[in-house]
Amino acid sequence: MSETFVEVVLDRSLARPLDYAVPAHLLLHVKVGARVEVPLKNVLKQGTISAIKHSSEFLKVRPIARLLLPEATLSPALWKLADWMSHYYAAPLQKVLKCFFPPNVRKGVKQKQLQRIALAVPKEEALLHVVKNGPQTKLIEALAAAKEPLPLAELLTTLQISRSPVETLAKKKIVLIEAVPIADLSEEEFFQTRPKSLNKEQEECLAKIISSLESKQFASHLIHGVTGSGKTEVYMQAIQAALEQNRSAILLVPEIALTSQTIERLRARFQQKIAVLHHKKSLGERTAAWDDLLKNEAQIVVGARSAIFAPAQNLGLIIIDEEHDGSYKQSDEAPCYHGRDVAVMRAHLEKAVVVLGSATPSLESYANAKKGKYILSTLSSRATSAPMPKVQIVDMKTACDKAGGFTHFSEELIEALRQRVEVGEQALLFLNRRGYRRQQMCGGCRHVLKCPHCDLALTYHLSSNILSCHLCNYQRETPRECPSCRSSESLEFKGFGTEHVERSLHALFPSIRTLRMDRDTTQQKNSHEELFMQFRAHKADVLIGTQMIAKGFHFPSATLVGVLNADTALNIPDFRSGEQVFQLLTQVAGRAGRSELPGEVIIQTYIPDHPILALAAAQDYNSFYASEIEERKLFSYPPFCRLIKILFSGEDAAATERLAQSTCSKIQELKPEGAEILPVLPSGHPKIKDLYRFQFIIKSINPRVLESIFPSIPASTPEILVKIDVDPLNTFF
Ligand code: ADP
Ligand code: ZN
Ligand code: ZN
Repeated sequence: MSETFVEVVLDRSLARPLDYAVPAHLLLHVKVGARVEVPLKNVLKQGTISAIKHSSEFLKVRPIARLLLPEATLSPALWKLADWMSHYYAAPLQKVLKCFFPPNVRKGVKQKQLQRIALAVPKEEALLHVVKNGPQTKLIEALAAAKEPLPLAELLTTLQISRSPVETLAKKKIVLIEAVPIADLSEEEFFQTRPKSLNKEQEECLAKIISSLESKQFASHLIHGVTGSGKTEVYMQAIQAALEQNRSAILLVPEIALTSQTIERLRARFQQKIAVLHHKKSLGERTAAWDDLLKNEAQIVVGARSAIFAPAQNLGLIIIDEEHDGSYKQSDEAPCYHGRDVAVMRAHLEKAVVVLGSATPSLESYANAKKGKYILSTLSSRATSAPMPKVQIVDMKTACDKAGGFTHFSEELIEALRQRVEVGEQALLFLNRRGYRRQQMCGGCRHVLKCPHCDLALTYHLSSNILSCHLCNYQRETPRECPSCRSSESLEFKGFGTEHVERSLHALFPSIRTLRMDRDTTQQKNSHEELFMQFRAHKADVLIGTQMIAKGFHFPSATLVGVLNADTALNIPDFRSGEQVFQLLTQVAGRAGRSELPGEVIIQTYIPDHPILALAAAQDYNSFYASEIEERKLFSYPPFCRLIKILFSGEDAAATERLAQSTCSKIQELKPEGAEILPVLPSGHPKIKDLYRFQFIIKSINPRVLESIFPSIPASTPEILVKIDVDPLNTFF
């Protein structure tokens, strides 16, 4: 009888698969996608079986040590999905597989406990034991501020610190780490809502989805529905239909919309257990949700991008809400996948139905619908009686002239705010920049205070009275004199952020109550939800915020939305910036007047004639699409070609640029048919965290050609990181 061997992809170290022999007692259990522990030198390593075969080219092949969590074995469909991702995104299988197993499962433990951490000694005493201003200080400050023990995993993510400084503190008995069992997640009682009777457009849309579900074949749908048109209601009834067929459903929502709001709506509709998966959940909680899915005890998954890998059994339906949203794309590490595109592939492999929904579909998806690849449904009006808001564009040059200098608020906006405050309605003010002043510079020598680690000006924050880098979090005090010319008189601030808007508003309306929602005010766990609840409970008249407030939230008594400066994003030289501005303005405008009260939107800009602004003001997606798609065609951008961005980053600028250049030349020499290789340029952020960044773009109308290019791209080394981004969201940064 021939022997059986397997190839195993280790979780860490070597990227290429290794051969192992299968001992007799495991013969019946080895499967592709199974988790195993194997010896490497004299330690045991964990990995995933990637192939089964009956010979090995190696003479001495060691046996598998043991099988880990057999129930964790990837289903054949998920295995195929991993394999597809590895090819399509040019990422090693090792990195791809990481997405498919939560960290605990990877280690073979099904720990369903939550680790919590608290201070064991008073704060003052604790601070004596640590280096000033280091990560441990941050941790102690956070723990002292909290009244109860905090979940460890989340705290580390929030504070951006690693585990080892915490463990040192635990050893010294300065902090205490405890493990508590995770309470069953769906115990809370919710007031149950019943399915709403649908309007005609919703009805037709749902009927098409149900008909696809009944066919038990792959189908993809696109719902183009204005904000408030009742897409979520359609999603919920479609999920209901899938459950009735005994199939499970995954609902992906953008990271930022994953507040209790969405989950509450689902819990209120479905009695069934819901698996909630996103990175703010602790490892233990994610493991518990994952386990419920494997045992088929949960048939509904709600989560951010990575929830697309959830092991939902007998999958029938995948819904991607706000499918155009950038948070579905993983851009920081391999595999640089797009959750929406992975969803479509997964649905295809599992003969499931995929539904993409948006008020502003991505050009790619809408083009697919026009071509007939996706089944299109349009929800053209709001589901409730609320009319669409009235949108007005205001020229800020005129406004500043009238005010005799810079102002955040045009007369039109001030008047609209005054009216709201008088009648007790609410307003949202949107500015895509946090902090107080955007940068500090010397009026004498024009020196701008930059981060020492990044090529970026430091932002001044008034509440903490510090300058901080928005790329790497570096912080410093404001200098007394110009670091370049030593002048102590000429330091001045330029540009404004949300903190400044808040103060200026108080100067205009002394009794106004404001809340601010940006990355500075949402550091703590649940702070998002708390601010949101406070505003909904009318604890403030105005909510000021960055793009966080643009998406998904429903504020019944907010009738005014002010966009303070619509121009920032329009000035980014990228083929997608027009699309992104259109999407953002439509989303922000959609926050106004969602219940009976009519809404008003004021968009302030210095370029009032920009065509994108006019289209956004008219909320005319179809005209926007028609003009934008022409432009993409003319300049050959997606969906008319595929793009790949290859980014090189390293401490040695010259060596990094050299590698980028030589790779670019090598690919040019291949003369790939139908592909255009653009020259190497410094990235839009030329330096981040002491790493210099160079990149080039490959454009191709022939997707096959790209695979022939991949072998010419060097792997990362400790000195130079090489990142391949297939279908990048932008070509500039
Ligand atoms: P979207 O997801 O498109 O923004 P929602 O599903 O959140 O829209 O619906 C907006 C509002 O309209 C919600 O308050 C929802 O309960 C309500 N709604 C949705 N469909 C209907 C319907 N058929 N009849 C009455 N109200 C509806
Ligand atoms: Zn100076
Ligand atoms: Zn920095």
